[in-house]
Amino acid sequence: MKHTPLGTQDVNQLVAGLNRVARNLWWTWNQEAQEVFKELSPRSWQNLYHNAVAILHEVSDYELRVRLQHQPFAERVREVIARFESYLNEKNTWAAANAPALAENPVAYFSAEFGFHETLPIAAGGLGVLAADHAKSASDLGLPFVGISLFYREGYFQQAFNHDNWQTEYYTLLNPKNLPMEPVLNAAGEPIKCYVRLTASQVAFTAWRVNAGRNPVYLLDTNLPENEPHYRDLTLRVYGGDSTTRILQEILLGVGGVRLLRTLGCKPSTFHMNEGHAAFLTFELMREKIAEGRTLADACAATKRECIFTTHTPVEAGHDRFTPDLMRYAAGKFAEQLKISFDELMAFGRVDPKEADEPFCMTVLALKSSRAANGVSELHGQVSREMWQVMYPGKKVGEVPIGHVTNGIHLLGWMKGTIRQFWKRKLGEARVEAEDSGDTTRFWRHKNDWEADVNSPEFWARMADPNFITDEELWALRYRLRRELIEFARRRLLIQGERLTRGDFIAFDHLLNPDALTIGFARRFATYKRAPLIFQQFEHIVKLCHDKARPVQFVFAGKAHPRDEDGKRFIQHIIHLSKFTDLKGHLVFIENYDVHIARQMVSGCDVWLNNPRRPLEASGTSGMKAGCHGCLNLSILDGWWREGYDGTNGFAIGDDSHPDSIEEQDRRDSANLYKALTEEVIPTFYNRDASGLPRQWLAKIRRAMVTLVPQFNTWRMVQEYATKYYLTK
Ligand SMILES: *Cc1c(COP(=O)(O)O)cnc(C)c1O
Repeated sequence: MKHTPLGTQDVNQLVAGLNRVARNLWWTWNQEAQEVFKELSPRSWQNLYHNAVAILHEVSDYELRVRLQHQPFAERVREVIARFESYLNEKNTWAAANAPALAENPVAYFSAEFGFHETLPIAAGGLGVLAADHAKSASDLGLPFVGISLFYREGYFQQAFNHDNWQTEYYTLLNPKNLPMEPVLNAAGEPIKCYVRLTASQVAFTAWRVNAGRNPVYLLDTNLPENEPHYRDLTLRVYGGDSTTRILQEILLGVGGVRLLRTLGCKPSTFHMNEGHAAFLTFELMREKIAEGRTLADACAATKRECIFTTHTPVEAGHDRFTPDLMRYAAGKFAEQLKISFDELMAFGRVDPKEADEPFCMTVLALKSSRAANGVSELHGQVSREMWQVMYPGKKVGEVPIGHVTNGIHLLGWMKGTIRQFWKRKLGEARVEAEDSGDTTRFWRHKNDWEADVNSPEFWARMADPNFITDEELWALRYRLRRELIEFARRRLLIQGERLTRGDFIAFDHLLNPDALTIGFARRFATYKRAPLIFQQFEHIVKLCHDKARPVQFVFAGKAHPRDEDGKRFIQHIIHLSKFTDLKGHLVFIENYDVHIARQMVSGCDVWLNNPRRPLEASGTSGMKAGCHGCLNLSILDGWWREGYDGTNGFAIGDDSHPDSIEEQDRRDSANLYKALTEEVIPTFYNRDASGLPRQWLAKIRRAMVTLVPQFNTWRMVQEYATKYYLTK
């Protein structure tokens, strides 16, 4: 068949459209867009780590135009662009119906990190991933939203290991030209410039705009020639440097963020502090009011009405505390601006204002200057009320004004391509059948509109129906996802250079077994998460791995904070086990954990292991990513799992309680973990019927999809923030 060639005009439109799509993170949660970029050069797509902007630089304009002469490809590109435009222009959103009050006055969401995608590695862990998922769902819901963070040009560290298997860190420079971000320009078309006072200097900063669907996220950047070198490097790394760097980064984030919004003419109705890092924004809001001639009391009260605060951890080290000396040096100017004494300034961050030795705590400042505060799961809300009761003398624990909104994940952003294709095909078939039978009301206008329903209980309720998706299909899907993970792990281990000693050589084709029960553990190696807990029963675990009839294997990943020696020791121990013990070939450690590795692991593992020291895992979100892929949780009843687990949809380690003594808790949890593994997990997985299917296991997967997925997502979470907090003053 011969096609008439596309005219130059048409080609120009497609090229321009593709460039617009690449510069909006929307493509990271749209499969067809990703496939178009991938198809331009599958090898570059892998080498450039799935970077749409970089792909468009890699493929020459000439080649792109020739490729667009291929009609079916041009058609797909046109469709992606059309869907992108219709997404941006959709008026009929949740927020249009439910939050019209925010139309002119968006929510300003301040977060020290955002973990959007593997190509923009400016997050250290779960906090940043949550912030990014919040932003993505705010966009999907049509919620007016603006994000504020910093542009760390060296991002978070890359993980490597020395010959002792000790974690070392290195950094790579991010190139804004190859990232989905653009400089924020002023009316004259030049990069915008704002100033913030840091110690005794005026420091200039500029900003980058990241398009997160319909909404902007601004990243502040002090890397300007007019700044002294140490201020240029303030935005070098995520949580880089010492506590001086930390406090100055936080002043830039809080004060600088408000200044940028003012410069852009943005008038937020609510300032949402995602963790205490951003709490200096309250001083800037007070300063503005005092400069207008209002009294301190008035300025405080008015600021409080504008702010809400989410606390994310009961772990002590997660709450920034600055000494009075550091505060005087870095933040003393605030006292002058607010026309108060230094002691009065310190009082904002002290539980006991009269305690002169008490450091300045960002969480205390945030709690004192917010109209509402919340933890990130029911149990964490409770723990936070106990933890901060001291700030509210006379109030009983239950009366402490900290509520909770349980975290979620952005479902479409986390669903792996394989599972999306699966749903698209299944629902496509159902749609055709319905149309054939004359029923056109139940299905979508467009074949991809199923995505619009993906957060609803009705969508996932289908999983309860073995006629809609048979056990055979579901098991085949699980096999495919597991194999994809194993292939990914083998490739990564080859790159990691895990050459095993001669004579002992394991070919990479034999590393891990595609039929074996695969248990995953990937998270930050904070010690309270107890990564090596399962190996306390080392001899038993070796036996389980070597069981020919019912083998078990483990995939681990995770980074320790650069200064966390104990966390690094945990990683070293696990790598040692994977290389030099009888676990070799049955346990692997994948380096450089990030959102891409997370997606491979939560989709390919059969079991997602989570064994924190309760109640320190405020929520946890990686287990939520497992649910939609049919990976079952095996977890302590902490954080979200205490709400999610119902006895049928996964596995619990221990019960809804914990002893006070840490030693006792570790001993008990280790025993309970082994018990759950050998008495429930392994028998259920390997209990096969005549046709080789693990019927009870598959029933659990169905239950997990029906009960967990529509609940633990950011579509529900952002609506909850909106109705509980953003819309109530
Ligand atoms: C989801 C995610 C996290 C958070 O997982 P937790 O269960 O809260 O530990 C951390 N890092 C990455 C890269 C993630 O994708």
